[in-house]
Amino acid sequence: MELFNDVEFSPQSVSSTLSKSQFLKGQQCHKRLWLSKHRPGLRREPNHTAEFLFSEGHIVGKLAQQLHPGGIDINEGNPSIPIKLSRTQDALKTHNVIYEAAFQFNHVFAMVDILHQTPFGIDCYEVKSSTTEKAVFLQDMALQQYVVEGAGLSGVRFFLVLINPHYVRKGPINVNELFKQIPVHYKIEALKQHIPAQLQSLRTALKSPNAPSTEIGPHCFSPYDCDYMSHCWAHIPKHSVFEISGMKLDKKFELYNKGIVHLTELFNTPGLNPHQNDQIRAQKHDEPIVNKPGIQAFLNTLFYPLYFLDFEAFQRAIPPFDTLRPYQQVAFQYSLHSQQTPQSELKHTDFIAEPNEDPRYALAQSLIKTLPKNACILTYNSGFEKLVLKQLADTFPKFSKHLMVLHNNIVDLMEPFQRHDVYTKDMEGSFSIKSVLPALVPELSYESLAVRDGQMAVISYIKLSQTSNPIEKETLTSHLREYCKLDTYAMVRVLDVLREMANSEA
Ligand code: SF4
Repeated sequence: MELFNDVEFSPQSVSSTLSKSQFLKGQQCHKRLWLSKHRPGLRREPNHTAEFLFSEGHIVGKLAQQLHPGGIDINEGNPSIPIKLSRTQDALKTHNVIYEAAFQFNHVFAMVDILHQTPFGIDCYEVKSSTTEKAVFLQDMALQQYVVEGAGLSGVRFFLVLINPHYVRKGPINVNELFKQIPVHYKIEALKQHIPAQLQSLRTALKSPNAPSTEIGPHCFSPYDCDYMSHCWAHIPKHSVFEISGMKLDKKFELYNKGIVHLTELFNTPGLNPHQNDQIRAQKHDEPIVNKPGIQAFLNTLFYPLYFLDFEAFQRAIPPFDTLRPYQQVAFQYSLHSQQTPQSELKHTDFIAEPNEDPRYALAQSLIKTLPKNACILTYNSGFEKLVLKQLADTFPKFSKHLMVLHNNIVDLMEPFQRHDVYTKDMEGSFSIKSVLPALVPELSYESLAVRDGQMAVISYIKLSQTSNPIEKETLTSHLREYCKLDTYAMVRVLDVLREMANSEA
């Protein structure tokens, strides 16, 4: 399964041969392709999320091979391109099913995830770990068809293999239910007609000694975030029009293309909503927005005992446990700060489920032991915590009543920020706790932590399930606990700031 990674080429072929992923980069933006070939050093290093998605995609691709079992894997041992090409030619004579079949035509190299020779023709399958069809997948397959047919194969039909979001795991994974195989040859046939002209255009751009003069635009984010943004966007200052909250990207580019770059240039512009005007005003006057009655109204909804709750959860394409669907959120950890009365000391407790086991029962059991029914529960962006509690209540009827009381007692600490009862320019138009915390409590930071965001927490939890080294287990567990603890302590401190603001004289 080829994601957006580059294929290695020999120096002789670097100027003329394109891989499938390079073709798609070029389709997104000629400059992206030019930079990837001529200035690879400017590329942003793949982050942990990209690496995680790549590894998930690889696992999904391997599992999908079971849809057409008994094949030969051309990529075994990750050989050079010439070896992949000759192995494929040999395999076509000896095997009906080939994984990662490699073809080259008109200086384009492409690999087919699964190739199945049947009595009715040759079926090619492209596996994606997505639940929905996307235009870029069809473009990808149109190029494959162009290369495969150009290399001499005929009677080829193409299928897109996607994850079925309605699949519910019961026992061992049933690949025929987990995946859906969608015929797309009739859709890609029309796209294929444009490939020769598209290749010509990409090659002309690549031959130029200078990078194409492509301006930044919505294409920098579609179909994928470009990895050259730190280069092309270097001239965009902090607090630009791209920070305006609640404005569509096209509209932001409309402003930018009119020469409006700084947020403050939009001061007194008609047609903006009240939140956008607040944001621009806070920026222009460097003054926070503080609506004391609004903050007080929010504080009045809180009661004691007061608990601050945060979950960490994973979503896996292949459901790891029974009764789970693909990509279902599964909480494996929580942190809880609590105060019984306004005068009581702040206490902390937490929970991390045993890795390699379904975490849901133990987590639900721990929650109902720890969180009383009379608790006021503060979370940040409560939709997620409510979803987790509702799913746990549905899954474990014996805990359902208690869990739904907790669900109904949730108050969202993000509300006053969403309503713009509080806004400072350092929030940069975002209400997320990762933006609100540094703006209101700058001395608290995630920067020094080994786990700094939810995706890193998921990766650490997966690593925890894969290691048997006790020291590594202890280290990973401690990093996870530190991260989740800071999430709830951040809420404690943000609430303190809200109270100070509500009580201030100014
Ligand atoms: S950042 Fe935008 S303009 Fe620059 S290469 Fe990427 S897609 Fe093209």
